[in-house]
Amino acid sequence: MSCSVCDGNVSGLVFCERHETAYKNIKEAFNNWRRAMDIEWMDYLKRIVENEFTGRWVREVAEFLIKKGINIS
Ligand SMILES: [Zn+2]
Repeated sequence: MSCSVCDGNVSGLVFCERHETAYKNIKEAFNNWRRAMDIEWMDYLKRIVENEFTGRWVREVAEFLIKKGINIS
């Protein structure tokens, strides 16, 4: 089975090691954001994608989550 975003081997549930790490970072950052402001998961993901400083791996994961409508778990 390959990663949902790239062709790498899956190491986590659906992502390869790099995308899995990016996914964990996204979730962690969201929990921090949520403490500071009232923001929904999907709005947060869109901000990540729109941010020109977002790294490649994080952006790819965020786009995937939006496309599939996957909520935070
Ligand atoms: Zn991947």
